[in-house]
Amino acid sequence: MWYQKGEKGRTYIGRIPFRGDLLENIQEFAAREKISCARVEAIGAVEKAVISYYNQDKRVYEDRHFDEHLEIMGCLGNLSLRDGKPAAHLHITLGDSEGSLKGGHLQKGTVVFAGEFVIEEIVGPELHREYDPDTGLPLWKKDS
Ligand code: ZN
Repeated sequence: MWYQKGEKGRTYIGRIPFRGDLLENIQEFAAREKISCARVEAIGAVEKAVISYYNQDKRVYEDRHFDEHLEIMGCLGNLSLRDGKPAAHLHITLGDSEGSLKGGHLQKGTVVFAGEFVIEEIVGPELHREYDPDTGLPLWKKDS
């Protein structure tokens, strides 16, 4: 286990635009505000969603496309740097009209109907994502 200690930085609260892409809007906002490390949460509703499941045996993300109106019950994750740019890693739980849930790793293509977010900056840590050979995932790499 390794970790880095940070301090609370700026806190942002706001809306994702109607028909905006959930992941892209958060990443573009972080780049604009020069946020390199943060915790992120969002709620609201989407017109359609693309979420994925990481197949650990095949080491690939398997995308699932939901072309239906869904509630964002919760969207949680973080922001750190990947190739020098803010990259959001977000997981989302979506509820359908029956109240059933589906969820996974948020991908581009998730179109917001209404979305409210909170971003809490963490000042101090320099977290960079790099390819991890054990998992095949872009994980945080400890600076040596
Ligand atoms: Zn994930």
